[in-house]
Amino acid sequence: MTRTSCCVVGGGPAGLVLGLILARAGIRTTVLEKHADFLRDFRGDTVHASTLTLLDELGLGEQFAALPPRWVQKLAVQLDSGTFEVADLSRLPGRHQHIALVPQWDFLNVVADASRREPSYELIMKAEVTDLVWDGKRIAGVTYFQDGQSHLVEADLVVGCDGRSSVVRQQAGLRSRTFGVPMDVLWFRLPRLATDPEGVVGRISRSNLMIMIDRGDYFQIGVVIRKGSIATLRDRGIEMFRQRLRGALPWLGDRVELLESFDDIRLLNVVLSRLSRWYRDGLLCIGDAAHAMSPVGGVGVNLAVQDAVAAGRILAPALGTGPVPTASLRAVQVRRWLPTVLIQTFQRLAHRVVVETSIADDEADPRPTTAPAPLRLLQRFPVLQAIPGYFLGIGLLPEHAPDFARASDGATVRAGARSA
Ligand SMILES: Cc1cc2nc3c(=O)[nH]c(=O)nc-3n(C[C@H](O)[C@H](O)[C@H](O)COP(=O)(O)OP(=O)(O)OC[C@H]3O[C@@H](n4cnc5c(N)ncnc54)[C@H](O)[C@@H]3O)c2cc1C
Repeated sequence: MTRTSCCVVGGGPAGLVLGLILARAGIRTTVLEKHADFLRDFRGDTVHASTLTLLDELGLGEQFAALPPRWVQKLAVQLDSGTFEVADLSRLPGRHQHIALVPQWDFLNVVADASRREPSYELIMKAEVTDLVWDGKRIAGVTYFQDGQSHLVEADLVVGCDGRSSVVRQQAGLRSRTFGVPMDVLWFRLPRLATDPEGVVGRISRSNLMIMIDRGDYFQIGVVIRKGSIATLRDRGIEMFRQRLRGALPWLGDRVELLESFDDIRLLNVVLSRLSRWYRDGLLCIGDAAHAMSPVGGVGVNLAVQDAVAAGRILAPALGTGPVPTASLRAVQVRRWLPTVLIQTFQRLAHRVVVETSIADDEADPRPTTAPAPLRLLQRFPVLQAIPGYFLGIGLLPEHAPDFARASDGATVRAGARSA
């Protein structure tokens, strides 16, 4: 049995950032992650300017820059009628006028390595949480399985950071409101050549909506399909899908042949939902566990990280002295509610306007796409591209590292954590 102040379930962006911040406050923090490593493909690759600023504040900016990530300042989409710039980050305030593209496991390793240097921190891998421990109506810990053995962690507070299929959320009986989503995503890799476009490449046509994330020597590609249409695609066979790719992105050439079957392609089930209440006595949910995000806009990681920073700042003073008052848990939800609702509203709107009109049910629609009015406006007045740039790069209500979590000259500032 382990006794800790805060048990964080899930070592994704939300869980690892929260763990680091609490540990920097000197609070006994145990993070449980069910996988043996962070090497998973189905996660956001984008680290936004506000998260880059946070990494600087935490003293991790240099380690992150040394990975090295790919820096992206402008985002464009390719239509049949040409390439259109949609977002310009060069006018962002602060040190970072870009977003970084990096496989998420590299980002998580930077945060995990820094956390492991904190004496009050413990990260347990291959630890799958299966149940909550109850003390009357209060949640007082979790049980997890590791190598076939059951373990108990008692905690003053459990924080569910276990993503959109959260076990913690479900076991706590917290209810989600789920919004209809018209799409799923097919996710696969193809080699990238030096002559290919760099950064993030969006492709929109009447029958296709796809995104290509430049990961150096390969593209991570996401093709949006109508929800539930995978069976039809499989029935038609891989060659039909390859033809669709050739039609949309002729410059990929023979590379599409590398997709030998649908076994080379993963289906990602897109979900958009949020809890109306993120907490109950002894428990809080943040990140995708509280609000599952659509990949639209690529903002889920940033939002999860911002939740974690707010939670760390609000909860640190209340932790370490016994059960955390529910007022503190509520304060986290109140702080993060507005950005969550606004971003999800934007995603729902985007599903309706862009996604629904550009994903084909069946054969490719040969009519060329023309740029919609907002896109034409952005080309006519490029200065307006700074608005989507700000939305993507900084987001709504960015959070900053609390004083107790900041590092100066690589050294952790621990003193005064409780009063910060
Ligand atoms: C196809 C797709 C593409 C996306 N692309 C982007 C993008 O480009 N940019 C972006 O910002 N966002 C993107 N998102 C959204 C983004 O991935 C999420 O919003 C973000 O990862 C949420 O972070 P999190 O820490 O809350 O949860 P997660 O990243 O889901 O992390 C949860 C962690 O908990 C662990 N876990 C789960 N259950 C248990 C358990 N029972 N016990 C212990 N551990 C457990 C998991 O292994 C995982 O490590 C995308 C989403 C999808 C579906």
